[in-house]
Amino acid sequence: MIKKIILLGATGSIGSQTLDVLRINKALFSLAGVSLGSSLEKSIAIITEFKPTAVVVRKNEHLEIIRNKFPELICLDCLEELASFDFKGAQMLVNALSGFTGMLPTVAAIKAKKDILLANKETLVVAGELIMPLVKKHNVRLIPIDSEHSAIFQCLVGEDSTNVKKMLITASGGSLRDKKREDLKAVTVSQVLAHPNWSMGQKITVDSATMMNKGLEVIEAHHLFQIPYQKIETVLHYQSIIHSMVVFNDNSIKAQLGTSDMRMPISYALGYPKRLDFVDSELDLCQIGNLTFKAMDFERFPLLKLSYEAGIKGGNLPCILNAANEAAVALFLAGKIPFLKIEEIVSKAILEAEFQTKLDFNYLFNLHNKYYQEIINKYGEV
Ligand code: NAD
Ligand code: MG
Repeated sequence: MIKKIILLGATGSIGSQTLDVLRINKALFSLAGVSLGSSLEKSIAIITEFKPTAVVVRKNEHLEIIRNKFPELICLDCLEELASFDFKGAQMLVNALSGFTGMLPTVAAIKAKKDILLANKETLVVAGELIMPLVKKHNVRLIPIDSEHSAIFQCLVGEDSTNVKKMLITASGGSLRDKKREDLKAVTVSQVLAHPNWSMGQKITVDSATMMNKGLEVIEAHHLFQIPYQKIETVLHYQSIIHSMVVFNDNSIKAQLGTSDMRMPISYALGYPKRLDFVDSELDLCQIGNLTFKAMDFERFPLLKLSYEAGIKGGNLPCILNAANEAAVALFLAGKIPFLKIEEIVSKAILEAEFQTKLDFNYLFNLHNKYYQEIINKYGEV
């Protein structure tokens, strides 16, 4: 049976790569619903090629233009409606949105009993405590797309989770990895966006440079694999060939390797438990030659340390951490603050946070918006 895919964030980096995988596997999947971004040209090309039944647009001025061409189910900003829409038959949601926006559509899709293929790590960072029980309650699958989590997920196949000693999440170090802290003051947006290994959206590329991305991934792994923080370690691995590892009780280590091509974990998530054919990007280990590893430097990357602390304390802190980071990254990308100010803003938000352990989605939604907006207002609109 052809599986119907709902793809949120189709015009972004993960979204476009998901479309690539769907293109290769036309006999297995159809694009039933799609949410589009700010490029009208890209949006029209996607609708023309994949002919989805339902479309969500982000820009008001695109609404009429697209509706005139494709009079199907079209609405503005209605991500939750799309995520929960019943297309009949086997349906999966690929969440390729960036940022907090991904949380509520994920919740809507779980409640509508759809399997979730999750690239949007912010969903689990902010609300993992609520999302994981919901996944269990509605008996749906939650399969990671983030390459590190896909690697760990693959390493765990056939294993008893009680035999896991620890998880080793690899980190490329991001675009500024060869710079000392004193050299970070004057780095420009374009320097930060020049990632050595991966071509990704702007927000995650900045997060890689601050190591916040690894911090978010540690919290994501904690929820996804239900593993204590003490058993999650990070290691610098400049080549991004080993996507992550699991160490077992007998000290045996399983790793998953591949080129830096996100279409691989996307393909794995879409096909799971089967593997789909994928002809591109075969890894040539002899050409790579060496794989190197270096202990994580928490002094150099204080936001990773802060993420562990926020994750361990839990409650509303991961939401505050994420909201402050989203605002700070947006401000940096808009040229309103220097690079190191990102750390300062996020640290201050955590330091001054009013700790709260009672969470629900409504509370998290308001908390995120409060922090995000206050920080944006303080430093100027983006
Ligand atoms: P991106 O910026 O390239 O794309 C994000 C998409 O989300 C765009 O289509 C954008 O229009 C849409 N979007 C953002 N805010 C929206 C809003 N308020 N309303 C409607 N649509 C909105 O980002 P990306 O790099 O593709 O990352 C997506 C997610 O995947 C992130 O959570 C990121 O951390 C994660 N991820 C990305 C990569 C990668 O290689 N790009 C790897 C691992 C994980
Ligand atoms: Mg990752």
